[in-house]
Amino acid sequence: MPDSQDIIIQETPLAPAVPVAAGQVNLIGLSRQELEDTVVGFGLPKFRAKQIWHWLYHRGAKSFDEMTTLSKRAREQFAERCIIARPGVVNEQLSEDHTRKWLLGVPGGGEVETVYIPEKDRGALCISSQVGCALSCKFCHTGTQPLMRNLTSADIVGQMLVARDTYNEWPSPRGGRLLSNIVMMGMGEPLLNYDNVKKALTIIMDQEGISISKRRITLSTAGYVPNMQRCGEELNVNLAVSLHAVRDDLRDEIVPINKKFPIKVLLDACRAYPGSNNARRITFEYVMLKDVNDSEADARELVRLMKGIPAKINLIPFNAWPGAPFECSDGATINRFAEIVNDAGYSAPVRVPRGRDILAACGQLKSASERAKRKSQEAPAATT
Ligand code: SAH
Repeated sequence: MPDSQDIIIQETPLAPAVPVAAGQVNLIGLSRQELEDTVVGFGLPKFRAKQIWHWLYHRGAKSFDEMTTLSKRAREQFAERCIIARPGVVNEQLSEDHTRKWLLGVPGGGEVETVYIPEKDRGALCISSQVGCALSCKFCHTGTQPLMRNLTSADIVGQMLVARDTYNEWPSPRGGRLLSNIVMMGMGEPLLNYDNVKKALTIIMDQEGISISKRRITLSTAGYVPNMQRCGEELNVNLAVSLHAVRDDLRDEIVPINKKFPIKVLLDACRAYPGSNNARRITFEYVMLKDVNDSEADARELVRLMKGIPAKINLIPFNAWPGAPFECSDGATINRFAEIVNDAGYSAPVRVPRGRDILAACGQLKSASERAKRKSQEAPAATT
């Protein structure tokens, strides 16, 4: 087993647009250029690519039969050589607060969880970027599962397509969307799978398709500094940073990537993040762990660290999971912490956990197969 630090700095290259079954190309997840190359490669005119893009991402077509602007012959030609592969829904759970969680079998192999968090007239889709995670943050359920692989752009875009299918949001509505926002806050570290995440978000943002604006997309990182600048320059999405501790000794322990990119280096990268300003702040996530990171001195140090950064702080009550080695801070402690940060002029809302009953809240995601495996190792099956 390699040392976790070896894994941390390992970025996997862009997954190629591989044929998914013998000789067949999955059109989902191809960039516009790749789609065009595929179409031209079939000896068809380039404009067919634009039409197909529209069907795939504006209309949500699942088969070539639906693509009525294409000639029958062209439809047949595509059906012979290409597929439109979405993730399969392995399991779906609905929370009492209407948060929905899907366990998806993704075309590239493996399973991930995707969560929809509805608000009154809009909602955010929480998308995964990897199967498992290499970062091993001590309070995070996904962190107990090793990194199995990076998701391809098809796997990532596919999560959005399944959610749109479920809420019947085709063709892409102009406004009034239930699926209005995206947070890259599911399983995995998106900046360690940057190329695939970039490719997928570029598809999702494309105005002739799903068309979610960069202002409605937030990418969360535990602090893989080398890709932060690129993310700001190339995608210009909102940035969230999982800070969780204000001293390096503690952060080294609970967010181990800190050993590689300590707090000062991380915050300097935040100061330099392109496109952040007072109207577009960086979100710092801070999970409230009882007697670990929740003292008044921690709150004051947090304020000091934020100096010069257009920041807002999300205080996240710790969401427990089976076997978790932490407890959530009590309400009074969280409120006092929030007060200190607020008094210093930073917005510091205490997040209301969503979907806890179905283990869909922050940090509770894990492939069900992994969960089942662990369960069977921990406890013998009950006899009736
Ligand atoms: N790897 C990225 C993306 C995951 S985002 C990142 O770390 O930012 C998931 C968010 O939920 C992160 O802020 C994470 O620190 C937080 N989180 C993880 N476990 C949690 C838990 N048990 N309770 C509350 N928040 C948690």
